[in-house]
Amino acid sequence: MKKFKLTLIALALAAGAASAGQAPAQAPMNPRADGIPVTKLSRLRVFADEQEMDQQSKLQYSQLLSEAKQKEALVPDSDPQVKRLRAIAARIVPNAKRWNPAAANWNWEVNLLNSDQVNAFCMPGGRIAFYSGILTKLNLTDDEVAMVMGHEISHALREHARKRAVQSTAVSIASRLGGAALSSYLGIDPRLTDAGANMAGQLTVMKFSRGDETEADLVGIDLAARAGYDPRAGLALWQKMGAVNSQEPMEFLSTHPSGESRIQDMQKQMPLVLPVYARVRGLDVNKLPPYQTSPLPN
Ligand SMILES: [Zn+2]
Repeated sequence: MKKFKLTLIALALAAGAASAGQAPAQAPMNPRADGIPVTKLSRLRVFADEQEMDQQSKLQYSQLLSEAKQKEALVPDSDPQVKRLRAIAARIVPNAKRWNPAAANWNWEVNLLNSDQVNAFCMPGGRIAFYSGILTKLNLTDDEVAMVMGHEISHALREHARKRAVQSTAVSIASRLGGAALSSYLGIDPRLTDAGANMAGQLTVMKFSRGDETEADLVGIDLAARAGYDPRAGLALWQKMGAVNSQEPMEFLSTHPSGESRIQDMQKQMPLVLPVYARVRGLDVNKLPPYQTSPLPN
């Protein structure tokens, strides 16, 4: 059964490769094209079963929450920090469909886990968790929380996990087909296809690619700016991450390396996102007051 499914995927991939030359030009999704330009979702993602991934994510998320509850580490709904996170999400989420129309139907959830870890994530389907360590150790402002949340939501919106699931399958299929054209169509490093099926398993457990991280940074600041959060908080956030990490290596930075180049990449996008933020706040972009971060705890 599994083999049959893989064959189907391989055929679908090959058919996609054959028609790649005639892909229609994308019509602009939003006539008011300010902010970070919306690009197409990865061609790879369509080969992973969306419903299956959603079910897996739902199961993993509920397992995580029930484990946390048993350890009394699930922060209750009445907690001010939980309310704060949910209020920030409520402002960001309405902008999500710009980046993935399916997100309009997601059942968004936001929870806070009592843990020293500096970490946060958003699973496919809009299941968000923050670890309290990221709030306390970085003393995040609301704008900075919005940057973290925007980044994590972007991984889910841009279906990076779904793309990775397919990449790992496709690597082994491509190596069996021996199709150099196929691997270049899929944007997979041909060295990976040479390595063959054994590589595939390892790929699924790794962090997101550098390209996915960059996309999540940019989509994240656009999402947050549209929600009225200052995009310059993204720069402050990564500076704080770097400062704290130099004293105590953080979980979040092990999956999110190279703070310096992130800051530079985000800096380049400020002329695109600051006008969005200023418009939402009803301010003149040339008269924005400087961004105020909060000090790191001693
Ligand atoms: Zn990331």
